[in-house]
Amino acid sequence: MVHVVESELQRVGRSIHAAFPTRSRHPLRALDVKAMEMAAQDQELRAALFRFVDVTPACTSLDDLARHLSAYLDEVDERPPPLAAAMRMSQSKAGRTALGAAAAAGVRHMAHRFIVGETPRDARGVLEGLWRDGVATSVDLLGEATVTSAEGERYAARCHEALDDLAGVYRPLPARPLLEADRSGPIPRENLSVKVSALTPLLRPEAPERGKADAAPRVRALLRHARELGAHLHIDMESFDSREAVTDLVLELLSEDEFRDGPSAGLVLQAYLRDSPQLCERVIAWAQSTPRDYPLLVRLVKGAYWDHEIVEARQHGWESPVFEVKADSDRNFEELTRRLLEARPAVRVAIASHNLRSIAHALAASRAMGGDDRDVEIQVLRGLGDDLQEALAKRGLRVRTYCPVGDLVAGMAYLVRRLLENTSNESFLHEQAAGRSLDELLAAP
Ligand SMILES: Cc1cc2nc3c(=O)[nH]c(=O)nc-3n(C[C@H](O)[C@H](O)[C@H](O)COP(=O)(O)OP(=O)(O)OC[C@H]3O[C@@H](n4cnc5c(N)ncnc54)[C@H](O)[C@@H]3O)c2cc1C
Repeated sequence: MVHVVESELQRVGRSIHAAFPTRSRHPLRALDVKAMEMAAQDQELRAALFRFVDVTPACTSLDDLARHLSAYLDEVDERPPPLAAAMRMSQSKAGRTALGAAAAAGVRHMAHRFIVGETPRDARGVLEGLWRDGVATSVDLLGEATVTSAEGERYAARCHEALDDLAGVYRPLPARPLLEADRSGPIPRENLSVKVSALTPLLRPEAPERGKADAAPRVRALLRHARELGAHLHIDMESFDSREAVTDLVLELLSEDEFRDGPSAGLVLQAYLRDSPQLCERVIAWAQSTPRDYPLLVRLVKGAYWDHEIVEARQHGWESPVFEVKADSDRNFEELTRRLLEARPAVRVAIASHNLRSIAHALAASRAMGGDDRDVEIQVLRGLGDDLQEALAKRGLRVRTYCPVGDLVAGMAYLVRRLLENTSNESFLHEQAAGRSLDELLAAP
């Protein structure tokens, strides 16, 4: 079996690779190449730039922005020439204004590669274009770490509005059978991803029940609204300290009788967590004992909070909840892929990755089990997975692109996570950009 999967994997991986657009808009080229090359090489500079990007939305003026930039860069011992020039500019007010404007424009430019619009209505053109190109989407309303209850209410109201907007965008579009059904039945066109930490300020590891209780009415209202519209609601997964509460919340709400017949809904499993195999078994057991009209959609990811989890664990002197060797996350991802695929049709499976090996493995494993390609969904992130998305659509596979919507302020935390991830030397996209051969990229972890 292993041998069969491995040879099929090589075939699928090469076929997808051959369908990549020739004039490739490589995702790392979308980031400012020079800045990213330097950031990847120099840890101090990397940290300074990330802190700077983080603070940008809070700056009140260009002058203010430039002051922050020079303060952060001051901490870097060996400055590459462009940064030394920037430091000289920051010594006068006029220089600071010019520097601030350039930095703000740079950050905005970068953000627009990843964030499709301020509202789903603004993003209409992008969403329609993707659908016409054979690509489904999940719209993510940016907004994290709500501090007050009023903020949670506001985020919930934006989610309701987004569901209505999405119905307005998607209803008139032409049929795309590949994107609208698998062997379990219909798949909604409208798909919204939400974060529980944006719906409640009370999501705290020391009192998970309070966070759950506070978020439950808001999530329940969103589930009802999604069911009325025939939309899919997906609950994203965040850092480890909220994992239990978020998982319990989703499974408890979806166990309620009123949600048996819908809406389509799902959660996320993070393969970088050492205990994810146990959680995977729990989710599968839940799905098998809780029949629903729409099977639970499990989005398998590696996990976006790796740096955060490592720092958090070190600070407390705990063993980190995440694997510390990249290949361990990759191997676990493949193991979980197999488990989830075997559990169909009790669950639907979405493989969310830009790693060609991880994706080819899922398709090959599914085929080896006698599965239909329609029963595996591949998901990518807007701005990072653009070429991959095009190749997958060209090969007749169902691909869904996660499209963040919102303003730059709310987008910063998202952007910083994408930057951190992709300037890490171990990231697949980084290796691909560095010119690794296809054999190496498809090799077993
Ligand atoms: C559509 C979509 C939705 C997503 N939703 C979520 C979500 O809800 N929650 C969430 O947490 N993430 C989410 N992610 C992000 C995802 O978790 C990954 O961070 C991202 O996709 C990179 O993984 P990869 O397989 O594409 O790339 P790869 O380069 O193959 O893997 C990179 C990942 O490996 C892991 N890693 C890196 N270094 C090490 C190391 N030294 N030891 C162990 N592991 C390491 C990290 O998880 C890192 O992100 C989503 C991704 C997509 C595409």
